[in-house]
Amino acid sequence: MPVCLLCNSLASVEKKCPGCGASMLDTGLLQDFYDNYSAYLDQNIYEDGYMFNDEDYCIHFFYCPKCQINVNLAVKKVDEDRLME
Ligand SMILES: [Zn+2]
Ligand SMILES: [Zn+2]
Repeated sequence: MPVCLLCNSLASVEKKCPGCGASMLDTGLLQDFYDNYSAYLDQNIYEDGYMFNDEDYCIHFFYCPKCQINVNLAVKKVDEDRLME
């Protein structure tokens, strides 16, 4: 079963803000974000086409508090078997 290195604290990614060049904050999974704000969103919006349902990729959510912009990063999952080697 593929696992996400970021979710398992096996790797970290530094994402530069396209606006100011500063390191963006990894605010976690996109799904968590939407869960927090789900009251404001139509459930249908993200239950059918959003990328975080992809089995091969984990979508992480980066935020720049200065520019107040968000960037989604698709992290390729790694086969768990390969981690054991
Ligand atoms: Zn992840
Ligand atoms: Zn910025």
